[in-house]
Amino acid sequence: MTTLTRADWEQRARELKIEGRAYINGEYTAAVSNETFECISPVDGRLLTRVASCDAADAQRAVDSARVTFNSGVWSRLAPAKRKSAMIRFAALLKVNAEELALLETLDMGKPISDSLHIDVPGAAQALSWSGEAIDKIYDEVATTPHDQLGLVTREPVGVVAAIVPWNFPLMMACWKLGPALSTGNSVILKPSEKSPLTAIRIAALAVEAGIPAGVLNVLPGYGHTVGKALALHMDVDTLVFTGSTKIAKQLMIYSGESNMKRIWLEAGGKSPNIVFADAPDLQAAAEAAASAIAFNQGEVCTAGSRLLVERSIKERFLPLVIEALKAWKPGNPLDPDTNVGALVDTQQMNTVLSYIESGHADGAKLVAGGKRTLQESGGTYVEPTIFDGVSNAMKIAQEEIFGPVLSVIAFDSVEEAISIANDTPYGLAAAVWTANISKAHLTAKALRAGSVWVNQYDGGDMTAPFGGFKQSGNGRDKSLHAFDKYTELKSTWIKL
Ligand code: NAD
Repeated sequence: MTTLTRADWEQRARELKIEGRAYINGEYTAAVSNETFECISPVDGRLLTRVASCDAADAQRAVDSARVTFNSGVWSRLAPAKRKSAMIRFAALLKVNAEELALLETLDMGKPISDSLHIDVPGAAQALSWSGEAIDKIYDEVATTPHDQLGLVTREPVGVVAAIVPWNFPLMMACWKLGPALSTGNSVILKPSEKSPLTAIRIAALAVEAGIPAGVLNVLPGYGHTVGKALALHMDVDTLVFTGSTKIAKQLMIYSGESNMKRIWLEAGGKSPNIVFADAPDLQAAAEAAASAIAFNQGEVCTAGSRLLVERSIKERFLPLVIEALKAWKPGNPLDPDTNVGALVDTQQMNTVLSYIESGHADGAKLVAGGKRTLQESGGTYVEPTIFDGVSNAMKIAQEEIFGPVLSVIAFDSVEEAISIANDTPYGLAAAVWTANISKAHLTAKALRAGSVWVNQYDGGDMTAPFGGFKQSGNGRDKSLHAFDKYTELKSTWIKL
């Protein structure tokens, strides 16, 4: 536990040396074009640094470096036990540098420093070490052949992997990809979001310090439509893994088809239902979870519980508990260790969230908490956690991913209606069910079209369980051994004896 105060963090922020260059073949480097873009902190609107604005020329350099390194076998053919050791050292270096990484993350995207330090950095480190620890414990297969044949079913690294990631959990989303991608022996080009590139840039050097050879992990900051698109269209990228919006995920599928049919694995948006039945075992716990499900990380969470489905018979009793619980989630300066709601990532995202709040009003939903921008005097981008009651699932605020702290409360009268509303969305990332009836819990969980279902809690799971979406929330899975499937090709070798 750190005992750093807000003043300590502010002091460190002033002294922090921030690297904004790309990392290619083991070296920090400016973009070929020498272009940069401003990296503005949403905490207070101040310029943190200028960041290399990479484009197709940099993508080419990084892909070349990754390809040469991959083909050399220096990492791809290293004994799994040795890759394991390097991955564990990489994870350890994240922890050694936890305070610096946490500070970069908070300054860059506005989340509370306590979350960066206690959730994001340890979660990222765990994703690296968990995958590394597994890699020398996964065996290949021998087919059930006739006596005079030997059939080997082996997994090989796919080769060059491009990983394009979002800004809401910049380091953790990157490491959910890097853990299995690197452990399986691939060379990787990581493209962080232009809104939050700093921790990705920093950890590139830590990978080399951990003993991962130069060229195995390259980091290209820059815009999606420039360097992201160049990677997605590149003929020598074997696999593209992505976390981000459904809109861009669909575009990436087109790029894959237009280029080399690179394997493409997508983790996209969500509009997750949190269903509270009248027989929930503990309404107070359900209310507190409903509040944190929309306020944690400023609601900038792909699995945010943004639709609260409440059985009508308890709604009048339950909603005040949620409103009360949400009062514990108050925007404040993210560098204050007591803050639990920080700034939204930038002005554009804040305006998007505020426009959804307007749309809730316009569609006739009833505002019962929050609803406004706050802390303007800070120069940052803060919005109050907000609840709309009386929402119909057809309203825009119930259908579209807001990616901010705006909760829609929807009443239902039966199990069937709850399931039907819950599934009435293009997304299928997560869902939760609150009931003391075990059959109802199981039957509802089975009926929900979502990649993760939580019962009597919100947001459970760890590295051991796969994470990903049904429907337009994506394909493939991050975390768990299932994630390894995305980074390996299966080979059948059939030998006549
Ligand atoms: P985004 O789709 O706008 O951007 C994601 C990444 O794609 C960024 O790095 C961006 O630069 C890049 N990009 C944009 N246009 C591109 C293009 N034409 N070609 C290649 N790359 C391009 O998403 P965002 O706003 O950064 O993140 C928020 C979204 O991420 C939300 O929809 C959220 O639900 C989703 N998300 C999903 C998960 C999950 O695991 N399913 C986790 C976190 C966030």
